[in-house]
Amino acid sequence: MKEKIESLYDAIWPQGAPKREMRCSHCGRINRLDVGKAALMMEQCRCGECGDLMFRRKEEPLTGLRANSYQHPLDRSSLSALRSIPAVSQVLKRFMGEIGEKPLRYQVLASSIQCGEDQFPELYTQLQQACTRLGIDQVPTLFLSQSPVINASTFGSEEPVIVVHSALLDHLDDAGVSTVLGHELGHVHSEHSTFKLLATLLMHGGMRFGGWPQLLATPLRMALQKWSRCAELTADRAGLLASRSLEASIRVLVRMAGGYSEGVRRRTNMNIAAFIKQARQLKTAENDSWMDGFFASIVTLNRSHPFTAWRLLMLIEWVEEGNFLDLLLVNPAMEPEKKD
Ligand SMILES: [Zn+2]
Ligand SMILES: [Zn+2]
Repeated sequence: MKEKIESLYDAIWPQGAPKREMRCSHCGRINRLDVGKAALMMEQCRCGECGDLMFRRKEEPLTGLRANSYQHPLDRSSLSALRSIPAVSQVLKRFMGEIGEKPLRYQVLASSIQCGEDQFPELYTQLQQACTRLGIDQVPTLFLSQSPVINASTFGSEEPVIVVHSALLDHLDDAGVSTVLGHELGHVHSEHSTFKLLATLLMHGGMRFGGWPQLLATPLRMALQKWSRCAELTADRAGLLASRSLEASIRVLVRMAGGYSEGVRRRTNMNIAAFIKQARQLKTAENDSWMDGFFASIVTLNRSHPFTAWRLLMLIEWVEEGNFLDLLLVNPAMEPEKKD
């Protein structure tokens, strides 16, 4: 296990991870921590003075966690850009009045399996645990739906619903499933559901709902889809806070990119380190050449989700430079300083 973590560390930070100073909440000593080691081996990270644990244990809830404390800055800025478009509130009002979430509720009730204490209790327990870890009181209704695509989704602003695709259980282990459930809870917690639903309808089944897509002018549609991609970055952060395992978060993204079907497993051991290297190449390419950056923006225009490699880089960036570690400090004496 230790070897696996060490090789993951080397893959993410071949030149060593950044260091930062963090105060022990027991004795007040300032510890200079290696960010990578702290993130990957959180439960072994102890204060150099008093020997107490610096970070919360995996099961310890993040009581009172506010969604804006882990909101990605791109989510924040693209949401305010979206809200500043004058037509938004009218479109939303009309959309919720005429279509809303009812067709989706009906669809999952009719075609998926509702999970609870007497049906897929293991999965339901995992959802309860993820809620506890994120400090969320209301456990959303959970459905399992037969689908070969590794995915999950959420909808419902008043009564949130999470739908897990069956492929998720084929391709991911428990830590991976917790990460995805945490990701979906992040959407719930951040109240993404109405805008997300609108974006999803536009991407996939919009035409089935009459003239709705035509009602939305292109700038609004593009702003909605851009925000939708940025909102994923916030939800990925919630996934990491729920699983508290950077390794699991990275593995989920790698498997979403390449799958983990029997055919894949039989042929190779998926190499996380190689995928991280691949993602870093993308970043270098984008930084080096405006053309690559230009094409990257063009090809993502119509996507509801950002590229997997970008999601991975953004998550690592949060661990390195953001408030991920601050949020998980043991009983911080004061609210952690908000950093993006
Ligand atoms: Zn201490
Ligand atoms: Zn999502």
